[in-house]
Amino acid sequence: MTRFVAPGQCGNPVFLIFHLLPFCHAKRMPHITAEIISIGDEMITGARLDTNTQWLSQRLGELGVDVQFHSTVGDTLSHNTDVFRIAARRADIVVATGGLGPTRDDLTREAIAESLGLPLQLHEPSLEFIRSMFQRRGREMPERNSCQAMFPLGATPIHNPQGTAPGIDIIAPREDGTQSRIFALPGVPAEMKTMFDETVAAAVLASNGQRQHIAHHIMKFFGIGESDMEQRLGDMIARDRQPRVGITVSAATISLRIVATGDSPEECESAIAKTRAEILDQAGEFYFGDGETFEQHHAVIRHLNKIGQRLLLVELGRAAPLGDRFAAVSDEPGFTADVPAFVGGISLADVEDLRQWTGMPQDASAESCLTALQKRLSADWVLLVDEYPSLHRTSDHPLPGSDVTFTVAAPDGTFPSQTQHLGAHPSILHARVAKAGLFWLRKCFAAATSGV
Ligand code: ATP
Repeated sequence: MTRFVAPGQCGNPVFLIFHLLPFCHAKRMPHITAEIISIGDEMITGARLDTNTQWLSQRLGELGVDVQFHSTVGDTLSHNTDVFRIAARRADIVVATGGLGPTRDDLTREAIAESLGLPLQLHEPSLEFIRSMFQRRGREMPERNSCQAMFPLGATPIHNPQGTAPGIDIIAPREDGTQSRIFALPGVPAEMKTMFDETVAAAVLASNGQRQHIAHHIMKFFGIGESDMEQRLGDMIARDRQPRVGITVSAATISLRIVATGDSPEECESAIAKTRAEILDQAGEFYFGDGETFEQHHAVIRHLNKIGQRLLLVELGRAAPLGDRFAAVSDEPGFTADVPAFVGGISLADVEDLRQWTGMPQDASAESCLTALQKRLSADWVLLVDEYPSLHRTSDHPLPGSDVTFTVAAPDGTFPSQTQHLGAHPSILHARVAKAGLFWLRKCFAAATSGV
């Protein structure tokens, strides 16, 4: 079992890079186990999806912690007490979310205190902080909120910059002389994530006083399957590798998360740069950008803005997932409100409608319709998706695949086109088709220029 130092301040967090006190001198981490507890009736009844546990599992995994148990419990004190008692017995680290609000069903403080046989004690600075949060909002603190400043004896409050509920950090001694460390955080996902990244992550890795740093970097890929990617990466995804590389997949987009620890931010960054180059060596043709929320349409817009050209979308099959995505970009940080690269999107039922709409004769080809639109709307590029499969007879099963043709009207008057057989679960089928269309468009960009 691992022993922890007493809770305390662990350095100033900076975006993506923060100080931490390492477990060990060498790069290899000792084996640390964890249990995540999700608290709330809304989770146990299925009214709300427990996304906190998923996020925490990933973050702890990146820190080299072996998450062994997930527990979910409703708002019943005795059940909560049992869950904390069991978790502290079997895991080195316990991270709980929820139940720190001011209402009667918020029982996490009491449950931890009871599981450890400790009284609750008022922490004056926390009470002052909560009062000041209300004052800043022009309100008087309701008496009920003072319970949020009550902590099990010996606990360290975890600062919550966004809400009134401070977290709890407390050591849970075991009978055999070893100990576990409990972190309780609010249920609100945004508050929980900030507190974990700013305070808990560093504390989780606290040990012998030698300072270390940690940095994250996310690379995004499309057009390659998960197992193919794993094969290309080989040893790079080994759990004990430094830096660690983790794979996640969402609707056929692959994210590779590189996590490096080192003695300085520069050391972390150079380790990340080296791993990044190795990854690009293996799978560079599928890479389209960096960052958790960066998607292919961002890469397309960035490229078009760079070369000063404009794109028109034509989506058939009475669906417009690409049009929706591109239209939403103007509201995103980093992109101007007016995205000049995006002319707009047209959504119609089929090629017959496209002919009518563009005023072309009945026997006109789809390409000639695209040329007409290209001229009329001053677009350099047009992407035609022909067509999104119908979700009409949607069931919970994957739809049988169907052929979808992507045709690009390029500025040089050519019409590179590709037909793919695409099938997927109805909930992601259109997203899958839309992404495949963008992949083809990016290939056409690459052929026309030096690449996206
Ligand atoms: P508050 O101060 O807001 O009362 P709290 O610590 O008491 O915070 P809860 O009341 O349990 O937290 O939950 C607050 C909000 O966060 C609710 O909308 C809840 O649905 C959501 N939430 C709680 N736990 C989770 C979870 N595990 N995953 C996703 N959302 C969650």
